[in-house]
Amino acid sequence: MATAPGVMIFAEQSGGTVHPVSYELLGKGREIADRLGGELSAVVMGQELESEAQELIFRGADTVYLFDHEALAAFDIMNYRLNLLELVNEVKPDIILLGATPIGRSLGPRLAAALDTGLTADCTSLEIDEQGDLVQIRPAFSGNILAHIKTSTRPQMATVRYKIMQALPRDCNRQGRIIRRESLVEEPLAVLSRVPCNRHARTGVAEAEIVVCGGRGLKKPEDLKMLQDLADAIGGVVGCSKPLVDEGWMDKEHLVGFSGNTVRPRVYFAVGVSGSSQHLIGMRTAGTIVAINRDPEAAIFEIADYAIVGDLYDLVPRLTEAIGKEQAPGEMEDALCT
Ligand SMILES: Cc1cc2nc3c(=O)[nH]c(=O)nc-3n(C[C@H](O)[C@H](O)[C@H](O)COP(=O)(O)OP(=O)(O)OC[C@H]3O[C@@H](n4cnc5c(N)ncnc54)[C@H](O)[C@@H]3O)c2cc1C
Repeated sequence: MATAPGVMIFAEQSGGTVHPVSYELLGKGREIADRLGGELSAVVMGQELESEAQELIFRGADTVYLFDHEALAAFDIMNYRLNLLELVNEVKPDIILLGATPIGRSLGPRLAAALDTGLTADCTSLEIDEQGDLVQIRPAFSGNILAHIKTSTRPQMATVRYKIMQALPRDCNRQGRIIRRESLVEEPLAVLSRVPCNRHARTGVAEAEIVVCGGRGLKKPEDLKMLQDLADAIGGVVGCSKPLVDEGWMDKEHLVGFSGNTVRPRVYFAVGVSGSSQHLIGMRTAGTIVAINRDPEAAIFEIADYAIVGDLYDLVPRLTEAIGKEQAPGEMEDALCT
C-alpha cells in the first residue's frame, strides 16, 4: 500500500495512431490524479510515435513513457506485457487504466496476473472514495445492478469502456515530459503472419458517428440489407441487438449493449429493437435517438428523442429514399409521419 498515488494509463495505438479511448482515459485519469494529488502518466508503445506522445501531453498527461521499437509497431502481447511490467515495477503507479478494447482486454489481465493484483473489466464509471481508494463501477447481473468494486491489492487496475468517459479539450500549451524508454524485445516463438491493421480503414460500430441498429423486428438476415442501405445513405454503420448475433446474422463486433459495444454516436437509429436494459446500457448516451417500432409501448421509446410507431418494412425504405433525394429535414419528417 506504500505506492505513490500516481495514475498510469496505457495509450494503445494501431497503425501509428493512438486510439481515442486513450484520450478518454486521460480525461478521467486527470480528474483522479488531481483528486489524489498525484501524477498522471501515459505509456505508448510503437514506432515513430513522438507526435502521438506529444498529443498525449496536450490531452492531459504529465509524463509520457515512450517505447519506440519496430518490434512494438504492431500489438505483440509478449513484448508489450514485458515492457509494461518492467515500467510499472519501477514507477509503481497506484492506479492503472486501459481501454476495454481487444488490446486492453488482452494486455490488462496478463499484466494484473504478473503483478499479482486484481483487475475490474469493462468499467463504466470510476470514483475515488473518502479513503482515496478507486471505486470501479460496472454493470453486473445482466446490467440490472451497478457493482461498486474496490481492490485491496495494489496497483488498482481497470479496463474502461470506450465512449463512456469524457476526453479533455486539446490544450497545445500544456507542458509535460516525454521519457524515452529502452525497449525490451523477446524473439517470438513463431509468427505465422502479421495482418496490417489500420483501424481508420473501416469504422466500427463503436467509433461511428451514426449507427443504424437492427433488432429482432427484422424477419430474416437478408433484411439487414435494408438497414445497410439506410446506413450508406447517411454515412452510418450497421449495429445489432444480441438476438441477431445469437442467430448468426451478424458478427459480435456489431453488437451494441452489455455484452458488446458501448456506442455514443451523434445519431442512433434503433430499428425493431425493444429496448432491453442490456441493450440500453450500450447506447443510452447517444446524441439523438430515433426509434422505429410498431409497439407504442416499447421501452426504447422511453429514451428516444424521435419515436416513430410503425412497421419498419414500410418506414426504413421510405426514410432511405427521402434521404437519397436529399429532401429537407422537414420533408423527411413528413415522409415518416404520414
Ligand atoms: C447476460 C445478458 C447479456 C445481454 N447482452 C445484450 C447486449 O449486449 N445487447 C443486446 O441487445 N441484448 C443483450 N441481451 C439480450 C436482451 O435481454 C434482449 O433479449 C435483447 O436486447 C432483445 O433484442 P431485440 O430488442 O432486438 O428483440 P426483442 O426484444 O424481441 O424486440 C423486437 C422489437 O421489434 C419490434 N418489431 C417487431 N416487428 C416489427 C416491425 N415489423 N416493425 C417495427 N418494429 C417491429 C417489436 O415490437 C419489438 O419491440 C443480453 C441478455 C442477457 C441475459
